[in-house]
Amino acid sequence: MENIVWHNNKIDEITRVKNLNQKGLVLWFTGLSGSGKSTIAVEVEAELTRLGFIAYILDGDNLRHGINSNLGFSKDDRDENIRRIYETANLFCNAQIITIVSAISPYEKMRREAREKIVGDGVLDVPRNAQNFCEIYIKASVETCKSRDPKGLYKKEIIGTDTIYEIPENPDIIIDTEKLSVDESVKIIMHYVLENQINYLLPKILETAIYAAFDAGKIILDVYKKDFEVEYKDDKSPLTEADKKSNDLICERLKKYSPYIDILAEESVDDKKRLSNKFCFIVDPLDGTKEFVKKNGEFTVNIGLSYNNKSVMGIIYAPCLNKFWYAAKNHGAYALDLNKDIFKLFDENTKIKVSDKTNELTVVKSRSHSNEKTDVLLEKHKHKIKSQTNIGSSLKGCLIAEGLADIYYRFGYTMEWDTCAMQCIVEEAGGIFMQGDWTDMTYNRENSLNEKGFIILNKIENRLD
Ligand code: ADP
Repeated sequence: MENIVWHNNKIDEITRVKNLNQKGLVLWFTGLSGSGKSTIAVEVEAELTRLGFIAYILDGDNLRHGINSNLGFSKDDRDENIRRIYETANLFCNAQIITIVSAISPYEKMRREAREKIVGDGVLDVPRNAQNFCEIYIKASVETCKSRDPKGLYKKEIIGTDTIYEIPENPDIIIDTEKLSVDESVKIIMHYVLENQINYLLPKILETAIYAAFDAGKIILDVYKKDFEVEYKDDKSPLTEADKKSNDLICERLKKYSPYIDILAEESVDDKKRLSNKFCFIVDPLDGTKEFVKKNGEFTVNIGLSYNNKSVMGIIYAPCLNKFWYAAKNHGAYALDLNKDIFKLFDENTKIKVSDKTNELTVVKSRSHSNEKTDVLLEKHKHKIKSQTNIGSSLKGCLIAEGLADIYYRFGYTMEWDTCAMQCIVEEAGGIFMQGDWTDMTYNRENSLNEKGFIILNKIENRLD
C-alpha cells in the first residue's frame, strides 16, 4: 500500500445524494441457505424501485459466478467471499445506492467487519454512521431450511445440518420466515428503509400525491359545472358526489403507490390500524364543501402526510384557481400557479415565505364559520390590525404562507384533514402553526377532531393573548 496514493473524485457525496435523491444504505441479509434471503431481497428491491429509489442486490450465490468465482467453501475462502462482498457493497454505498446484500455470511466476525467497514469508511466527505448499515437476520430453523432446500444444497450434501452458522448477536432487524409471510417481511423492511430515507422519500411521495390531487380536481370540476345534489351528514356538513369521487380517486392512487402508508380520509371508513403505523396520509378530498355548494370557487383538495404524528408534507390544490400550494419537511414551501408557472416541482422561483410584518397586520377570517372568542380577541388587538380578508377552506393558511396575510385564529372545531396539509405549508414557509392553547398539534390520533382550535401566525411576535 506504501506506493499507492488515494486519488480523490471531483464529485463529492453531497452532490451524489442530491442527484440521486437518496443516501447510501446497505441492507445486509444474513441467514441459513433456504431461510428466505433471496426471496425477500428481490421483493424489497422491486418495491424500492417502484417507489423511485435505486436499489441493487448483491447476491452471494450470483457473485460466486463472477467476482468470487475462484473461491471455494473452506473457512478462509468463505471469509474472503464476505470480505469481497462488503468491499463491493461499500463502493455501492459510496455511489449512494441502496444495496441489498443477500449472503449466508455465517460468521459473526465477518458480519462485524462488514458493519465496521461500511459505517466507518473514513475517506468520505460525508462521514458514515450507523444509519448506513442494517443487519437483517433472516431466521428459519435448519430443519425448515432443509425441507425448503430451494437450491438442492442440503440434498446434495454441499451443506448439512451441522454446517456452522453463528446466530447474529445483535441484528438490527429479525425476520422470522417461519412466522411471517413474504409480504409481511417485505413490509417490515420497507418501513425501515422509508424511515431511513425519509428526507428523500418526501419529494417522491409529494410528486405522486400532487398528480392525484390534480386529477381529483378535474373530477371535482366536472361535478361543479353541472347541477349536483347535496346530502347532509350526521354533523350537518354537506356532502356531494364530488367529495366521494375525489376521495375514491385519491385513496386508490395513494394506496397503489405505497401500501406501507395508511390513510385517514374524510369520506372513508376510519381504519384504526393506521394508529400503529408511523406514516399516515391525511386526506380532505374536498375542503370547503360549503364554498363548493355556494359556487364561489374557494374550495380545495388537501393531502397531508403525518410521520411520527407530525405533519411532514402538504398539498393544497384549488381547482378553480388552478393553483397549488405544497411543502415537504426540510424542502420548503411552494406555490405553483398553473395560470402562469410551468409544472416544475421544488422550483426556487416558486418558493414562498410568510411576511415579516409585526404591525398593520392582515387577519384572515373564515367565510362560513364565525366564532365569538376570535372576535373578542381581534377586537382587543385591533390597533395592530389593518385589514381583514375572508376566504374559504385551507386557502386561509395558504394566504399566510404566501405572505399575503399574517394571522388566523380559529377556535372552533376542525378535523385533522382540515389542517394537516396546511400546517406543513405554513411551517415550511417560516410561519407558526399551533393549537389554540399554544401546544403542538399532532396527527394520526385516535380522535380526529382538533378540539383545541388552531392559530397561524407569520411571526411569533404577533401572538395575541
Ligand atoms: P436463501 O436465499 O436464504 O437461500 P431462498 O429465498 O432462495 O433462500 O429460498 C427460500 C425458500 O423458502 C423459497 O423457496 C421460498 O419460496 C420459501 N419460503 C417459504 N416461506 C417463506 C417466507 N416466509 N419467506 C421467504 N421464503 C419463504
